[in-house]
Amino acid sequence: MQVPLTRPYITKVEEEAVMEVLRSGWLAPGPANDKFEHMFANYLGVSHAVTLNSCASALFAALFASNIRGEVLIPSFTWCATANAVVAAGATPVWVDIEPENYGMDPKDIEAKITPQTEAIIVVHYAGHMCEIDTIAQIAARHGLLLIEDSAETLGGTLHGRQAGSFGIGCFSFFATKNITTGEGGMLTTNDPQLARTVRTMARHGVSPFSTESQSAQPPWHREACMLGYNFRMPGILAALGLAQFSRLEEMNTLRRHWATLLNQGLSVRPDLLKIPTEKVRYKHVYQMYVIEIKKTDWRDKLVFQLRAQGVEASVHFFPPVHLQAYYQKHAFSGHDSLPVTLEKASSVISLPLCPQMEEQDVDMIVKATLSNLDKFAQEECKK
Ligand SMILES: *Cc1c(COP(=O)(O)O)cnc(C)c1O
Repeated sequence: MQVPLTRPYITKVEEEAVMEVLRSGWLAPGPANDKFEHMFANYLGVSHAVTLNSCASALFAALFASNIRGEVLIPSFTWCATANAVVAAGATPVWVDIEPENYGMDPKDIEAKITPQTEAIIVVHYAGHMCEIDTIAQIAARHGLLLIEDSAETLGGTLHGRQAGSFGIGCFSFFATKNITTGEGGMLTTNDPQLARTVRTMARHGVSPFSTESQSAQPPWHREACMLGYNFRMPGILAALGLAQFSRLEEMNTLRRHWATLLNQGLSVRPDLLKIPTEKVRYKHVYQMYVIEIKKTDWRDKLVFQLRAQGVEASVHFFPPVHLQAYYQKHAFSGHDSLPVTLEKASSVISLPLCPQMEEQDVDMIVKATLSNLDKFAQEECKK
């Protein structure tokens, strides 16, 4: 038997939605995009949502449209897209350490790394659990910094019932492994109407979809770039797929939480060797990934190898941390010498398989394989 790390959960609902767009004869962004954006904004409790082709595009658009060119505080314990967006926008990443419980940016280290050049903070909501966003939002407000939430891994996660991505500019991913998927896709959310307009314009070649006075004096075919533009559009087929997935978000997140609870029960018997994921009070975890930590870090890699050999597709998110990846080492942006928790977590985390449509026998296999490997390693250690 094989237990894959994750699988998209596609049903007849998604198939029908995609076929409907294919049959409609309109493949460009259209009604499905409008509806997806409307429902997404409503769900988050924000005024604007913009469909885009990826979360990387959303992060870049947030920075570019806000004219951020100075220092941007980001975690190194993330997918490299967070940092790439900062460099692509012409700004400078400054690495900030994480707190050890849920791997979110450490508010104390944020305060320590703010300089007169700091313009923005990009937080990451890791694996389905929000960072300490209320504290961080206060810091951002106090220092006049733009707050961007890389919520690629957390759609539906909340603090005090308030949604991830609704505190600052929300950037979401619909890549194949996320809470909902369109294969590739993204969404930017904001309460700032001007920002939403700018992002809509830059995402379609810099040609504004809004008619201005000078434009209405022109013939209807007259279209011109009013800013530097990109093509970040989400095709209508993918918007329809996203909308169908989004209609099943609560169902899928409930299942994710169910399987995570069972995995927690099974794995909680070895607190001496493992840390299981925690859900802080007032937070809701939506388990985009199920991440444990192994206390003996020199066992980490061999456990992942063993599990894979036994058909349990374990993995590691993320190693190496971004500041140690080749491109970023070459550039040595500041803050890289003070990330002890990042280094510790990068060598102890393990992602175990989890997806909504997994089954009880998958959970059994993951738990048994993990625990028996640990027993074996412990015995080997004794014999030495
Ligand atoms: C997946 C991911 C991204 C990138 O999302 P894309 O839609 O593939 O661009 C960015 N940040 C984090 C934290 C991610 O996990």
